Order: sequence, then structure tokens, then C-alpha cells
Amino acid sequence: MAEKLAGPHVVDLLWHLPSGLIDRRFSPKIAEAPNGRIVTLTVTVDSHVPPVQNGRPYRVRCVDGTGLLELVFFHAREDYLSRILPIGAQMVVSGKIDRFYDTPQMPHPDWILPVEDRAELELMEPVYPLTAGMPPKTLRRAIRQAVKIAPVLPEWLDAALVRQRGWPDWRSAVVSVHDPNDPAGLEPSDSARQRLAYDEILASQIALALVRTQQRRVSGRSLNGDGRLRRALEAILSYRLTNAQRRSVDEIIADMASDQRMLRLLQGDVGSGKTIVALLAMLNAVECGFQAALMVPTEILARQHLETVTALTASLGVEVAMLTGRDKGKTRAARLERLAAGEIALLVGTHAIFQDDVVFQDLGLVVIDEQHRFGVDQRLRLSGKGASADILVMTATPIPRTLTLTIYGDMSQSRLDEKPPGRKPVTTLAMPVERIEEVVGAVARKLAQGARVYWVCPLVDESMMVDLAAATERYALLREYFGDCVGLVHGRMRTSDKDAVMAAFVEGKVTVLVATTVIEVGVNVPEATIMVIEHAERFGLAQLHQLRGRIGRGVEASSCLLLYARPLSETARARIKIMKESEDGFLIAEEDLKLRGAGDLLGTRQSGLPGFRLADLTQHDVLLEMAQDDARLILNRDPDLMSERGDALRILLYLFERDSAIRYLQSG
Ligand code: ADP
Ligand code: MG
Repeated sequence: MAEKLAGPHVVDLLWHLPSGLIDRRFSPKIAEAPNGRIVTLTVTVDSHVPPVQNGRPYRVRCVDGTGLLELVFFHAREDYLSRILPIGAQMVVSGKIDRFYDTPQMPHPDWILPVEDRAELELMEPVYPLTAGMPPKTLRRAIRQAVKIAPVLPEWLDAALVRQRGWPDWRSAVVSVHDPNDPAGLEPSDSARQRLAYDEILASQIALALVRTQQRRVSGRSLNGDGRLRRALEAILSYRLTNAQRRSVDEIIADMASDQRMLRLLQGDVGSGKTIVALLAMLNAVECGFQAALMVPTEILARQHLETVTALTASLGVEVAMLTGRDKGKTRAARLERLAAGEIALLVGTHAIFQDDVVFQDLGLVVIDEQHRFGVDQRLRLSGKGASADILVMTATPIPRTLTLTIYGDMSQSRLDEKPPGRKPVTTLAMPVERIEEVVGAVARKLAQGARVYWVCPLVDESMMVDLAAATERYALLREYFGDCVGLVHGRMRTSDKDAVMAAFVEGKVTVLVATTVIEVGVNVPEATIMVIEHAERFGLAQLHQLRGRIGRGVEASSCLLLYARPLSETARARIKIMKESEDGFLIAEEDLKLRGAGDLLGTRQSGLPGFRLADLTQHDVLLEMAQDDARLILNRDPDLMSERGDALRILLYLFERDSAIRYLQSG
């Protein structure tokens, strides 16, 4: 049972930290026990008063010379109570006093112990979170046991650091976090908690560094094209690259040109123009005679990228193809054949591009778009396709620096911190859903002026079916208002139908596109200038920002309308306020981190990115930067963790289950 709650290992119990503290130190006499307070009383059992009729409580009367205390039990078993509270026995009871008229009562005491065992009672009792399905006492007992058997371990931290910070050794820290003396012991600033948080962060940073070193040891290849295709592409572009794009392209090409394997993150807010940067990098690979692959999370996006890329490369004589889960049978087989023969230079697709039978002739570069949508596993599988392929991951969900450090360690980064010129800011308004008629009226006026509108449907819950129902309903209603120009896309539609609707929206045959969040990622229709988001209060900040990023892409001014249902929670109100005030993705991401806590952001849990159990990145961000430096220093001095401290560090990695990184030591 303890395992179900806290995970399969003893250490998981150790990492399950108390979130509260009950102070049981107050031990007055019965007569002085104040109402509503937790007290610990030493009493003598006087008599048992079983209920006179069903449904009434069982009472046990106790005395201490100053007065009478009634212990009150509902649904009690008499034999059990007579056994634990024998008449005449001296007992210690602890719990909350609830005076009934003048009689002090203690309903269901938290603790009942014979006086001899009073040492078992914790006067400062830690309270643990998530006790669902498990009695708190069982959990507490299991944790106590785990703490008791926690061994003394060799120190893996730098002695000077430990001294300077005044941190306890590992075992003392474990003991101390589970036995806080006061509420300060529950705070992230508590030195025992800090020490363990640092241990955890350091373990993650060392593991990341090891994986990364390994990825670099797989000898990369120098991809340094002659620039022929890139120049040709730039010549036909209708715009000039922004400085940020130029800088990022240069960084990426330099990285590809080195004979180490590239592992680089390209961060750029929605609309910052990542696609063209990726395409230039891919053309560099093609110039060198290699293939390149672009992986995206949805079919809509794959199709859109295919169109963009084809339009740009058609005149360059570069063969582009798409591969998604929809491709089957002969067409697929034929495409795979051409891929294996090297006839396809650029492959665009969903995760279907790393199915086992997909073989490249020689894959030089993998670009992963909107990477946070993919699990680590998928990413690793793809990079396995080209054993030494360079990897560029792109994300439009700006990741705050603290989080990139955690997830990617010292992965190189390029940032598009500048948007293409001429973008009009998006005006964001919020209003309660009761005013939907007004909104419909405003949309009607805009449509008359030739606008194109996204109408994003409420995120009802996790269940796709319910979301779907909401979208379909809204679609029907808007059709009544606006007629045939209303289209619907959602994740459950057949791809061909989805594509048809999207195409109609691009062409302007459909002017109001009712959509579930399938449009969240990457869709690019510059003519769309209005977005209505229903039940905005149910969306996360990052998601709202992503959605809004679909508009404000063209030359016309855009507006985003957030419709919300009352009452608004504190957090929802804060989110909407931030949305109204800012369009800066990085700022929004930082705010999101504050509102949500790190683990939640980007759904890191689901996507299998390393989550933290002890460290709280909103509180321990200083530790994160320290640990990163520390990890680098450690591995510079002792790359294979062979020293005495290296041995200790290996234990640390095991403790935090980062030991899979250790195998990279042996294989190196
Ligand atoms: P994202 O970073 O969100 O993937 P995209 O690559 O889809 O952004 O680019 C958004 C839009 O901006 C596209 O229509 C693209 O053609 C356009 N764009 C990209 N770079 C520039 C630029 N330097 N100047 C003008 N428009 C650009
Ligand atoms: Mg994009």
C-alpha cells in the first residue's frame, strides 16, 4: 500500500516530504483545555458509556483530578475500545478539544497511548500530502521505517560547499526533513530541504551532462555546405531574415560544420519565423549530400509545413516528401523506397517517420518542431535513425531559462528574440460569456469587412468526446448566425476532412473556423485576424498564448477575445490579466511558471521529461544554476566518475534514479 502511494522504492518514501506540522506540545490539565485546540492530555480511564441507541456515539470518560474528559467515538467497536482504553489505565491522548456545553470532549483522538509509550507520540507531528487510500498513520510508520534504515552514505557534495551553506550530511538531512521542529522546517529555505533539493538537481544535471557527452562522443560529421541552395532560397524569399534569424542560422550552421554532433535548441515565440531557419539548416545538410527530416506533432502541421517547404524549394530542385500515419500500402512502400535510395532529400512528417521500417539513405539532420509535444523516447528513437545525425529541436512554447537548464542542461541554444517586422500587436479583450451576443455581432461586422475568424471551443475536460460535443454544438449555433461560411475542425475528424476544411479556411471559403485546440500548434493563416476563445478560464497561460499566436501574423490589426464564465478563480483572473497586458512569450512563460509550478509546465510529466520530487524550481532556481556549474566542474575533473567522490556521485545518481546515465560511462 505504501508502495502504491509513494512509489516502489524505499527512497520514494524518503522523498515524500511532510507538508504540514501538528503541534502537540500543549499539555494542560483537563479543566484548562481550551476549545478548538490540539492538546495532549494525561488521563485515567474512568468508565465506558456505550451508546443507548443506534447512531449515538460511544463515550469513554476520563479524569485527571481537575475535571472530566469525554472521548467520543462514532461507529465504534466496543471490544476494540475496551482493549485500547481499559478502565483504570493511565493514558496519553492527543487531539482536538471540542467542548459540548461545559464538558470537554475529544472526538476520535488522533493518538491514544498507554503512558509508558508516550515517547512514541511526536510532539511535533509531520503531516504528509496525498494520503488518499492510505491511513496517515500507516504512511507515517512506513516513512519512519524508511528513515530509520537510511544508511550513512559517503559525501558526494563538495566539502567547501557544504560548509559554506551549513548543510547537514545526507542522512541527517533525511532525518531532519521528516522530523521538523517548527514550521520553518517545512519551508524550501530549510537547510536540510535545500541540501536534498540540491542533491536532486545535481543528480539531474550530472545525468544530463553524461547523456550529452555521450551524444557528442558519437562522432558527428561536419556538415558544411557550399551555400548554393541556401543562397538560391534567400533569393526567392519575399522578405529579409530578421537579425535574430540570421544569427540563429549562423549559429546552427557553425554547429553543424563542426565535427561534433549538434544538439541544439531553437527557441522562438510563435510567429518568430522558426520554419525558415529550420529550412536553411536542412538545405545545408542537402548541400552536403545528406537527407534531412522535419518532425512535427500533428498531421495538419505536417501538411502545412510540406506546402511551405515545397513552395520554397520547388525551384531549387530539392525533392520533398511527407510521411504520416495516414500513408499506407503501396504509396507508403514506394515513398520508403525512394527515401532509402536517397531520392527524397527532405522528409516532413509526424512521428510516423521513425517507425521501424523507415530507413534513410543517409540522414544528416533531424529537426523536431514543437518539441515539447514529443516524449523523450520518441526523440531518442528518431535520433537513432541517423546514428550521428545532427539534432535541432525547436519550440514555440518559450521555456524559461530555469527550465531549459533542467531539461536540457547545457544544450546549446539559439533564440529568436525578435519578430519579423510589420507585425501589428494583437489587442486582447476579456469579457464574461453572457455577452456572447455582442461578440457574435462584432464578429458579423468584421466578417462583412472580409475578416477571417478562429473560434476556439471550450476545453471542457480531458475527455476528447466532451470537447467535441461542445465544439459541434457551437458550430451548429454559429452556422445559424453566419451560414455556410462556418467550418469545423477537431482532432477526431478524418485527416482528409480536416485538410479540406483547413484548405477552405486558407482560401477564404470558410471564414469562421470553429476549432478545438488542434489549431494550437503552428497553424499559419496570416489572413486570420480575429480569435474568440471560449471558456478562456479553463486554458493554461502557455496554451492561451499559443492559441493567440495564430493571429497577428499578417499586416492587418488583430484582436483576441477571451470569453470567460464566472466566477473566475484567482489564478484564472491572473492569467487573463497577463494575457491582456503582454504578448511577450518569455514573460508569459515566466509568469506561467509562477502560477503553475515547474512540474506542470509544458506537461513535462506526461512527456517524460525529468520531474523533480524535492526541488521546487520556483524556489530553488539559484541551486539549479549552482548545480549546473558544479556538474560541469565535476565531469571536467573526473569524466568517468572514477575518483572516490565519483563513487559517491554514482550513489547519488542511483538514489535519484538517474543511473541510466551511468551506462554512458562504460560505453564511452
Ligand atoms: P513560427 O516560429 O511560429 O514557426 P513561422 O515560421 O510559421 O513561425 O513564421 C510565421 C510567419 O512569418 C510565416 O508566414 C513566415 O513566412 C513569416 N516570416 C518568417 N520570417 C520572416 C521575416 N524575416 N520577415 C517577414 N516574414 C517572415
Ligand atoms: Mg512553427
